[in-house]
Amino acid sequence: MEDLKMQYVPTWCIGCGNYGILNALKKAISSLDISPEELALVTGIGCSSKIGQYVNTYRIETLHGRSLPVATGVKLANHRLTVIAEGGDGDGMGLGIGHFIHTARRNLDITYIIHNNQIYGLTKGQASPTSDLGAITKFTPAPLGSVEQPINIVQMALQAGATWVGRSTAADPQLADYMVQAVNHKGFAVLDILQPCVSFNHVNTYKWYQERVYRLETLPDYDAADYAKAASVAGQWGEKIPIGVIYRTERMTFEESLPQLAGRPLVEQPIDTISISTLMDELA
Ligand code: SF4
Repeated sequence: MEDLKMQYVPTWCIGCGNYGILNALKKAISSLDISPEELALVTGIGCSSKIGQYVNTYRIETLHGRSLPVATGVKLANHRLTVIAEGGDGDGMGLGIGHFIHTARRNLDITYIIHNNQIYGLTKGQASPTSDLGAITKFTPAPLGSVEQPINIVQMALQAGATWVGRSTAADPQLADYMVQAVNHKGFAVLDILQPCVSFNHVNTYKWYQERVYRLETLPDYDAADYAKAASVAGQWGEKIPIGVIYRTERMTFEESLPQLAGRPLVEQPIDTISISTLMDELA
């Protein structure tokens, strides 16, 4: 945990759920037995994407919604690295939704952690793609509130082809454990974390989540390997919200299907055999 500490103090609002996620992330990384230089943390833009500034490892803060294509590039360049992409619901489900779907269907060995506070926090409280129907925000005022159907992240991940899908909350004592499971999974793992925004979302609070979540592991007949069962609980929202490992399966990763990556990672392969002028002549 000490090795991962940065000199910067987080600028998040007091009480923000991002603090719990940061602590869990450091705990998870330290228990994964990987050194900081073996990990790349790729974030988008938003309050949650600042998390990369507070973890002492390789990290890139990319453009809004673009953490997954950059994480894809990192993984293809050096598939020996552990790659974690991270960002908020606006970043990932708004601007980044196309990348999310294509990364899931390709099944890259990347973990994607989404801080889902159902609001755009950094820009001071607009409705996000996961805001509930009727959510009152500055740009979706009363009496109607948001008139757009929210995106259910775990349902979307299942349908797009993610091979590990889980959900937790920023205050969940098992959050670090779910992160470890997601990183250890070989393939695209999506962890939806319900994260209160204490400044701009006064509905989906710690208490609101606490009163609704239940852990799938406590159900006697729940089997995360069963897609039909996963699909049936993934749609639950409102009075009852499932958390835990929702779905887990195995499928060949994108990297494994590329013969040019079968040996050494690209970064370790010689480039002096490639003649740029020959390539240019072919393209001419
Ligand atoms: Fe956290 Fe919301 Fe403050 Fe952003 S605006 S730091 S999400 S509480």
